[in-house]
Amino acid sequence: MKAENNCIVIFGASGDLTHRKLIPALYNLYKIGRLSENFSVLGVARTELSNEEFREKMRSALIEHEKADGDELNNFCSHLYYQAVNTSDAADYVKLIPRLDELHDKYKTCGNTLYYLSTPPSLYGVIPECLAAHGLNTEEFGWKRIIVEKPFGYDMKTAKELDVQIHRFFDEHQIYRIDHYLGKETVQNLLVLRFSNGLFEPLWNRNYIDYIEITGAEELGVEQRGGYYDGSGAMRDMFQNHLLQVLAMVAMEPPAIINADSMRDEVAKVLYCLHPLEPNDLQHNLVLGQYAATQLNDERVKGYLEEKGVPPDSNTETYMALRCKIDNWRWAGVPFYVRTGKRLAARVTEVVIHFKKTPHPVFSQEAPENKLILRIQPDEGISMRFGLKKPGAGFEAKEVSMDFRYSDLNGASLLTAYERLLLDAMKGDATLFARTDAVHACWKFVQPILDYKANGGRVYEYEAGSWGPVEADKLIAQHGRVWRKPSGQMKKKV
Ligand code: NAP
Repeated sequence: MKAENNCIVIFGASGDLTHRKLIPALYNLYKIGRLSENFSVLGVARTELSNEEFREKMRSALIEHEKADGDELNNFCSHLYYQAVNTSDAADYVKLIPRLDELHDKYKTCGNTLYYLSTPPSLYGVIPECLAAHGLNTEEFGWKRIIVEKPFGYDMKTAKELDVQIHRFFDEHQIYRIDHYLGKETVQNLLVLRFSNGLFEPLWNRNYIDYIEITGAEELGVEQRGGYYDGSGAMRDMFQNHLLQVLAMVAMEPPAIINADSMRDEVAKVLYCLHPLEPNDLQHNLVLGQYAATQLNDERVKGYLEEKGVPPDSNTETYMALRCKIDNWRWAGVPFYVRTGKRLAARVTEVVIHFKKTPHPVFSQEAPENKLILRIQPDEGISMRFGLKKPGAGFEAKEVSMDFRYSDLNGASLLTAYERLLLDAMKGDATLFARTDAVHACWKFVQPILDYKANGGRVYEYEAGSWGPVEADKLIAQHGRVWRKPSGQMKKKV
């Protein structure tokens, strides 16, 4: 289904996210016919640019990132416009009124407007207020929706304050808090795998599952983003939003129907069931780490403290591993081990469901464990691991796998996360956007970890290219388990 006619107003249009992700996503939607012919994009930032200069910048970005060319590129760029505004000065927003009137008129949008806040987070509360000062938030003339980029708050207190600020001018149904992980095909596939197969759902509980691992590992360090990352750390950058959302999809109850309200009710419910982390338990259930300088394949890799923009005495965590529990009927007693980090041995995001062993070992040796591996990136797919008889004499079992890879679906064109989420917001479907209660539940859960860190919680060193501090291995070993050490590729088919 196509998006309705609308005007997309991007605040922060001269920034990195706009030219690297947003404009390419809109271009691809346009190419595959998912945008109405009557769409327009109005870029807004403080930098003075003409329409032509903005189009030229976006054209170069599309050539660089999407190898775009020809009429399609020219036609797409003809829908782009630009207006310089001092984004923190409400009076200056008056400039938007004639520009929007002109675009709504020209493209027959009925006033439908999607605002995308791709600015520094300090403006997420300011822009709604400035828009409202000129009546640009009211839905008397077409719908008005606002997409808010991450991070949504810095902690529990600031997230609540931000909600109060935005809710003064936009109702919850108009607010789309984006978490690009929810736009990933394989994250959504978790729901389809669970709720459309009679095979898995009966096993998806404490009776059959021993434990669950969730890994979000990156090979790269902080690159050019040291200054930004130092104020954030692994907890805020990955865990509080992306990985907790993945955990919620793994653990939630089936919604009665798939729509924004029933889905988001179940997500919020399970996040509120996360067992609160007590300060005294944290040292047994949490490991924080920071990568140290290392010699890797004849190359010296910088330590975090040597990265540009990072203070030399920073104790920001670039790694965290946590054991958490969900206090509800389905998951009582099943630990969820979640880890994320930079400069780890492989770039991989995956969920591993470890099933319980058979109650009695019939054969003399241990049978391989049953595992279901859901690979979110890269090499998206699903792998089921189980034991079969090794050919030959005796009854020795060996692990084999049945694998599905998205790349095997020849010709299937997957929407990228930003394509999917932008399209959903234009269609008014908030299913894959975080609702205020879920965001608060996540901050409520992580707040004790932030407090622990602020009160001098220890951050261990680890070598770049490793799987994190040895303390993380000890954390999972306390309960007789080990972390999986995945490669960047799923196992080849057997
Ligand atoms: P960026 O490159 O620094 O761009 C920021 C944009 O905001 C610029 O267009 C800047 O343009 C504009 N701006 C408006 N008012 C500003 C002000 N008072 N101070 C500074 N800049 C102002 O940032 P970005 O990487 O595009 O990220 C935008 C937002 O998306 C951030 O909140 C970030 O956390 C989030 N995000 C980014 C990524 C990513 O991959 N880049 C991923 C996830 C989330 P003018 O200076 O011309 O006004």
